[in-house]
Amino acid sequence: MDLQFTPQHEKFRSEVRGWIDANLERRWTEELRDPANGENELVEVRRSWQAKLNEAGYLGMDWPEEWGGRGATVVEKAIFLEESLRADSPPIPNFLGIGLLGPALIHHGTEDQRRRFIPKMLSGEEIWCQGFSEPAAGSDLASLRCRAEPDGEDWRITGQKVWTTFGPWADWIFVLARTDMDDRHGGISFFLVPLDQEGCDVRPLLQISGESEFGEVFFDGALAKGEHLVGKIGEGWRIAMTVLSYERGASALTDPARNDVFLADLVEGLRENGTLHLPDVREKLARLFVQNEVIRANGYRTLATLASGSAPGPESSIEKLLWSEYAQKQSETALELLGPRAHLRLRSPLARTEMDWAREFLWDRAGTIYSGSSEIQRNIISKRVLNLPTS
Ligand SMILES: Cc1cc2nc3c(=O)[nH]c(=O)nc-3n(C[C@H](O)[C@H](O)[C@H](O)COP(=O)(O)OP(=O)(O)OC[C@H]3O[C@@H](n4cnc5c(N)ncnc54)[C@H](O)[C@@H]3O)c2cc1C
Repeated sequence: MDLQFTPQHEKFRSEVRGWIDANLERRWTEELRDPANGENELVEVRRSWQAKLNEAGYLGMDWPEEWGGRGATVVEKAIFLEESLRADSPPIPNFLGIGLLGPALIHHGTEDQRRRFIPKMLSGEEIWCQGFSEPAAGSDLASLRCRAEPDGEDWRITGQKVWTTFGPWADWIFVLARTDMDDRHGGISFFLVPLDQEGCDVRPLLQISGESEFGEVFFDGALAKGEHLVGKIGEGWRIAMTVLSYERGASALTDPARNDVFLADLVEGLRENGTLHLPDVREKLARLFVQNEVIRANGYRTLATLASGSAPGPESSIEKLLWSEYAQKQSETALELLGPRAHLRLRSPLARTEMDWAREFLWDRAGTIYSGSSEIQRNIISKRVLNLPTS
């Protein structure tokens, strides 16, 4: 591994820090704590933060300049994300559009598609969601059944998607749909579909945390215009796979930075509880700190690979396993060590912690499922990293 932060990187870091200090009016935790903020208001807070970031040129930073980027390096992008988390700034609402669809359009879209969709994606005027998973197609995504049938120059989409993050607020959805029922991988195509139309029904799903950040999407002959097919017919699987690979590495520095914020809160809570000096408490804390450093070192390794121009291979599954399983351990440990008052939600007047540990505990259940479950990551590591024999 050869990852050095150069003086230019450090200069960039202090620029980002200065910009966030000058522009962030309220920390995300304070927004969450504010009883005036329902789910819709919180989305608006996120949307206006996204608009500010876009105006300052911090979104799609590593994209070409003609598409709103600034040709930044992957290390600069990671530094920006790390500083955003350290400052506890609101997460942008269009993370699926910018994280997944934007790169897909840059690599596989037409000039017209880029011109039409990228500016509003960056500004947050149009929120996107991802329509890949279906009730019977999750880990085995290629078994998806949602279909697209030709209608003149256009397409009609029929079927169901599920676990659609941000579906209740999204304006558009990028959908994998079958254009050939018999060809498992080659029969899948990639469409851009407006959600505000006859034939699209988005139903929010209530989550264990009490929020409804995701939903189900039902298509009944929904219109996808011919010009909104990305790539060619039957290229959807290939595009989806490259799209998912762009996700890799982006969180190389953010996961440990997020954990630093939580660990600081945990230490503070234990100090107040008067239990920080107890040997078994210190041992559990030490384990979390050491594991977080392992995640950081692994993140640096991923970043170094990306910075050298190579794509991270199947070993990125190690990173996914590490952060998702660590997060569960961290919130479980916090609830155990901080005691009953950490079980109260952030807005309760009796809640003592700065962080909403109860919400984190509930949310962290999802980490080992989305972006490929832990079992799937272990399969990948055993087959493609360790070359273990398959049964
Ligand atoms: C919070 C959250 C947000 C999400 N957001 C989106 C989104 O925006 N858009 C979208 O399209 N999808 C989204 N998903 C869906 C996610 O991609 C799927 O949940 C995931 O791929 C797992 O699929 P599944 O839920 O159908 O479980 P299944 O694939 O049915 O798996 C069930 C269980 O079987 C295990 N299993 C399955 N296959 C194997 C195997 N070959 N070997 C060993 N074990 C196996 C799994 O590990 C799991 O424990 C989201 C999920 C969550 C939890």
